[in-house]
Amino acid sequence: MLLLVAQSFLVIVLVRARLTGAANASLAELCKVDSLRNVLPTNGTLLGINFLPESLTAQVTNTSVGSGTAAGPSVSVASDTYSYCNLTVHYVHAGTEDRTIRLRFALPAPSEYKSRFYVGGGGGYSLSSDATGGLAYGAASGATDAGYDAFDKSLDQVVLLANGTLDWDSVRMFSHQALGEMTLIAKQILPSLYGSDTDSSKVWTYFSGCSDGGRQAMSQVQRWGDLYDGVVAGAPAFRQGQQQILHLYPAAIEQQRGYFPPPCALQKIVNATIEACDPLDGRTDGVISRTDLCMSRFDLNSTVGKAYYCAAETSTSLGFGFGRRQLAAGSQTDSLPEQNGTVTVNDVMIARAVYEGVFTSSGKRAYLSWQVGSDLGDAEPTYDNATSSWVLNIPSTGGVFVRKFLERLELDNLDDEAFVNITNDQLVAWMDKGTREYYDTLQTTWPDLSTFANHGGKLIHYHGESDNSVPAASSVHYRQSVASSMHADLDSSQQEERLDEWYRLFLVPGGAHCSANSLQPNGPFPQAASLMQQIIDWVERDIAPAGLNATVTQGGSDEGKSVSLCRWPYRPVWSSENATDINAMGCEMPDTEARKSWTYAFEAFGYAVY
Ligand code: CA
Repeated sequence: MLLLVAQSFLVIVLVRARLTGAANASLAELCKVDSLRNVLPTNGTLLGINFLPESLTAQVTNTSVGSGTAAGPSVSVASDTYSYCNLTVHYVHAGTEDRTIRLRFALPAPSEYKSRFYVGGGGGYSLSSDATGGLAYGAASGATDAGYDAFDKSLDQVVLLANGTLDWDSVRMFSHQALGEMTLIAKQILPSLYGSDTDSSKVWTYFSGCSDGGRQAMSQVQRWGDLYDGVVAGAPAFRQGQQQILHLYPAAIEQQRGYFPPPCALQKIVNATIEACDPLDGRTDGVISRTDLCMSRFDLNSTVGKAYYCAAETSTSLGFGFGRRQLAAGSQTDSLPEQNGTVTVNDVMIARAVYEGVFTSSGKRAYLSWQVGSDLGDAEPTYDNATSSWVLNIPSTGGVFVRKFLERLELDNLDDEAFVNITNDQLVAWMDKGTREYYDTLQTTWPDLSTFANHGGKLIHYHGESDNSVPAASSVHYRQSVASSMHADLDSSQQEERLDEWYRLFLVPGGAHCSANSLQPNGPFPQAASLMQQIIDWVERDIAPAGLNATVTQGGSDEGKSVSLCRWPYRPVWSSENATDINAMGCEMPDTEARKSWTYAFEAFGYAVY
């Protein structure tokens, strides 16, 4: 009996050995330094990339894959434990040997490997330092330090070599190159490691990220499109020349008009807008699923006179859109007094200007803004205990971009002095400078995605419609730019049809920045594991997502329910007969006025802003 068992075990081993060619049958065999060194491409194979084989280390490791690792901040996956090979290897760029680029790879056991490679995006100015995000999907995955210690530092910490001198190598590595090179290297190594058969030489390659991780995802589609099969890009923080300056716009408006609204008044305006616009989609559930209808049909002036009350509090808030490493510079501790009053004409004046977007002094549009009903956090002033008044609060998100990336000064934010005579034209000048300086790096809006599309790549792009950091309309504008750039000969509905074959955009009703929205708790949000399942199905099984799965997770009355989100340009609507059921959501082609509300021309600039 024992002999029989031993014999069948031997047969299994032989079969596996044949299936995987020269590759490794067990994790322990795979995870040996000598054999891993042997699969590194010979220097010269990948032009400009020279490995340092002596740097290679490998250990079998166990990990618990927890929340937030797969798709960026606030997007959770189920926790699970995996054994994997923790591989590190260093390389240099030929000719610049003084700068070492460190890679981490998490290699699953051969029995778990599904011929996949996965890259997870990071957050504000940060690359992901976690290489284990793919294990849940049977994928090898990686992380890169980009040659500037990105495992421990964010780009803004290293971007200046000295006052006046930018480290362009770090900017470019962060923006797209480090991730592209890592994936290029992984796709060279994995087939040799896991098998040399024709079948297993294919490495299905994925990227998923949100916020700057979404921008990183788009950077790979734009610049390394032939490497990736499936990309999930959430709320991409791209078009940084405009986006970072948008963070400064509310404070600039308040400074110009000499009025700093109590935060509680702004919150009341937001909540009253949500209440008024909620039913416009046909279902009264506390969610504005149609901000486009809200924009055309709701008058913010109707909130004047509404009473508000907020108790005194001490709070620490994070800078919007910033990763964990930025907490020190981006956070503020506020001691807020009790706020008790009614919404004034001046409060509404500020809210209206913020939602309208940025214009030059001659009335030319420079940028879009957050959808009406989005939280107005960037507009909230600071309370000055000495004078018992609300005063200027410059968000460091925008301030650090101006100081370090435009002015090249080692300063974390603009000070009040710099804002004394702030004009919209100054904001637009900063946007223009940011666009020029970072057009091929942080802007990340290259609109011709032919390489990716022709290679067979599939792109799921999603964005919370009530995002209060990166406006939802920013994503719509990019998709429109791709459509008109790649299919200039077609009309807009034909363009949509062609893009639909490989690029689908989903706006998430009520969704905030890369998370569900506490102000609209019945709003569903896509979950990381579900996003990955849908992109894998599209890539490997040719099952395109008709809608995007999203789940209500904020404790509203629809808690736990899932819904299939409408794909752009279709918009959600409930008929009066089915208005109680979240799943009865229909998807309609919006009327001309609603569509027009998503369409912008940035006439302030003498060039195309994609
Ligand atoms: Ca609603």
